[in-house]
Amino acid sequence: MAHYDFDLFTIGAGSGGVRASRVSASYGASVAIAEDGRFGGTCVNVGCIPKKLFSYAAHYREEFEVARAYGWTAGWTTGEPVFDWSILLANKDREIARLNAVYERLLTNAGVTIVRARATLRGAHEVEAGGRTYTAKHILVATGSWPRVPDIPGREFAITSNEAFHLARLPSSVLVVGGGYIAVEFASIFNGLGVKTTLAYRGAKLLRGFDHELGERLADEMAKKGVAIRLNANVAALARRTDGTLDATLTDGTTIAVDAAMFATGREPNTHGLGLDKLGVKLAADGAVAVDAFSKSSVDSIHAIGDATNRLNLTPVATAEGMALATTLFRGVASAIDHENVPTAVFADPNLATVGLSEARARERFGAIDIYKTSFRSLRHSLTESEERTFMKLVVDAETQRVLGAHMLGPDAGEIIQGIAIAVKLGATKPQFDATIGIHPTAAEEFVTLREKAG
Ligand code: FAD
Ligand code: NDP
Repeated sequence: MAHYDFDLFTIGAGSGGVRASRVSASYGASVAIAEDGRFGGTCVNVGCIPKKLFSYAAHYREEFEVARAYGWTAGWTTGEPVFDWSILLANKDREIARLNAVYERLLTNAGVTIVRARATLRGAHEVEAGGRTYTAKHILVATGSWPRVPDIPGREFAITSNEAFHLARLPSSVLVVGGGYIAVEFASIFNGLGVKTTLAYRGAKLLRGFDHELGERLADEMAKKGVAIRLNANVAALARRTDGTLDATLTDGTTIAVDAAMFATGREPNTHGLGLDKLGVKLAADGAVAVDAFSKSSVDSIHAIGDATNRLNLTPVATAEGMALATTLFRGVASAIDHENVPTAVFADPNLATVGLSEARARERFGAIDIYKTSFRSLRHSLTESEERTFMKLVVDAETQRVLGAHMLGPDAGEIIQGIAIAVKLGATKPQFDATIGIHPTAAEEFVTLREKAG
């Protein structure tokens, strides 16, 4: 029987790689992990966590206004609140450093060998990292993804989300390009922090793939809050003036002068230069590792999870895939993740969240569907001048009355949809939603009191 240095060699200590390695070690496997950046990967360092911290920070602008409507005018709420970017950055960096240490400790406590180096594959069972070659029965590619910026003149002047987390100073104005998760989240963050913000998206509706009403209504809400939304407009070129200002020429012929331009135009799997192609590992056109339901590539000993496979690029999906792989390889129980009905939230202002099928997808798949929806001003804003509206929608199979999709735009949408997602995953029907007593007064109770069909 062949002898290997390790049962599992993982490349990348991000969300998926850490979980797969830790759980594999807990099942008795000998495991090594290579990481050439900071522990925790994208989510911890330049993704979910710092993004949500920034999002909290940005929301304080509105909190101060709400506080005034509730009678709080003493001390710090009397004048215009002042925001200090350097305090936010320093506190955020301290928290991220703490999390880096937590992730490293999780690995060492589990008995995983850490290799601090960039790793490449040399064979179906061989990895090279830090000038050494390691052999392993199984190799796991968990290398994540990287921002993609279109090849336009002046692209070198653009920043991406990676840089946005470390800006030495907050720009006075920014152009955010794209209409997906990162674009709407960062446009909301910059706007909330007081930056004059323009969002340019090449399509007609933000958040392609989500229920169309979420994208439409989000654009309206963001515009009310001060973001200049330019739909059907892409950036053709960037140029820098001597004073540092950027001129962004849009495809509609107009030019915008801004302090910074952030491209959130998608991400690509981080698989270049890993040596996968030389080993005959099948890759998709965008570089994603092609895997089966058990995260196995076209080479039996090589596996891939998370963003490197470009299935559903979310942290809980990467960790679930990592957990399933560990169970498959080292517990002898073939485990696959169900990628259907995965809930997701977009931390724009307002938040939005969704589980299941959009109205359009449900119509395609089921034909006859019932739509229930509501739009209202939340109780919290009844004492304020805010025009923000909360929106909720249920998509129901007309024949079986099963709830196929639940969609929400409004404060705490992610917190609310997480609970609804359990019901949807369990196949709950509209009558079962209706039989559930609401919690009053909440926004969430609307999901169990929707009675009028809207389509
Ligand atoms: P990663 O977490 O990216 O980890 C890959 C690791 O591999 C990295 O640490 C990298 O340094 C390392 N690596 C790469 N190549 C090598 C090599 N050759 N050798 C050694 N190490 C290597 N998801 C959510 O669910 N919720 C959110 O709110 C959310 N917000 C996000 C916000 C932003 C701005 C971004 C960019 C992403 C966000 N995501 C969010 C997505 C989430 O971060 C990713 O889906 C998740 O991190 C993917 O995990 P992963 O393990 O596949 O890769
Ligand atoms: P998305 O795929 O969500 O959005 C990319 C956007 O860029 C789309 O609007 C797309 O337009 C546009 N785009 C693509 N290419 C071009 C181009 N050449 N010129 C102009 N626009 C272009 O990617 P993101 O970068 O926003 O985020 C990457 C992934 O990370 C997300 O899909 C998600 O999986 C994950 N993520 C999750 C978050 C969360 O859970 N809250 C937060 C942030 C990221 P079009 O639609 O027309 O193709």
